[in-house]
Amino acid sequence: MELEGKVALITGAGSGIGEGTAILFAKEGAKLVLSDINEEAGNKVLVEIKENGGEAVFIKADTSVAEDSEKSVEVALKTFGRLDIAVNNAGIGGAMAPVGEYGIDDWDKVIAINLSGVFYGMRYQIPAMLKNVSGSIINVASILGNVGLAKSAAYVAAKHGVVGLTKSAAIEYSSKGIRVNSVGPGFIKTPLLEQLEKEQLDQIIALHPIGRLGEVNEVAQLFLWLASERSSFATGTYYPIDGGYLAR
Ligand code: NAD
Repeated sequence: MELEGKVALITGAGSGIGEGTAILFAKEGAKLVLSDINEEAGNKVLVEIKENGGEAVFIKADTSVAEDSEKSVEVALKTFGRLDIAVNNAGIGGAMAPVGEYGIDDWDKVIAINLSGVFYGMRYQIPAMLKNVSGSIINVASILGNVGLAKSAAYVAAKHGVVGLTKSAAIEYSSKGIRVNSVGPGFIKTPLLEQLEKEQLDQIIALHPIGRLGEVNEVAQLFLWLASERSSFATGTYYPIDGGYLAR
């Protein structure tokens, strides 16, 4: 098992990529702090992990609230005594509109969850990891952390922000044992895509040279590599995993 004895905090663990990552990390021996704003979804994942012999706790937390991020780290330290891995994954798609029409509240909401949420997470995760002079932080960006997309300015800006924030944190903390990386999934089959019409989805699939959407486990496998010691020289980097989307 690759993560035996490690303690991992995963935000947005109640669905999609976070859920798949939590289940994979549990199979690999990690003790988990699952956090999500959706209590019911988070508890469902908790039960599944426990039924399969894993160790986990759930905390209801909103990543756009700094105190919630602090509490999530406190739960890791109180329950398991340490924090080794953090996957800052919680995110929303947000409203879709051109920049000249984008709702101010819609903008603020996406930035608060998708960008400030990652900063708040690291703000409290890093001091906890410094105690052991080791840690791996995985910030979930997107291919849209690298290129733009019409009608998605807030999402695109937040994800580009996550890539930059990750680089800064890596420069500051890699020599102190904490590796920090971001991941850029292409479009992955999760509830996040449910807001898209079938026609939009077909157009999106066509943008992936591989000819299909990604599966949650295909992304979770990259997270596992980044979380494990196998990636011991990897830090400060943005890793696309995108079926060739960015190759065009
Ligand atoms: P999802 O909607 O399936 O899951 C997101 C989870 O985050 C949900 O359980 C939700 O309750 C939780 N969440 C939402 N707002 C929250 C908040 N404020 N605080 C705490 N939890 C909150 O989505 P997903 O597709 O699994 O997305 C996970 C991450 O991957 C996101 O950051 C998303 O931007 C990114 N991503 C997804 C895709 C994709 O195509 N699905 C592509 C690239 C990047």
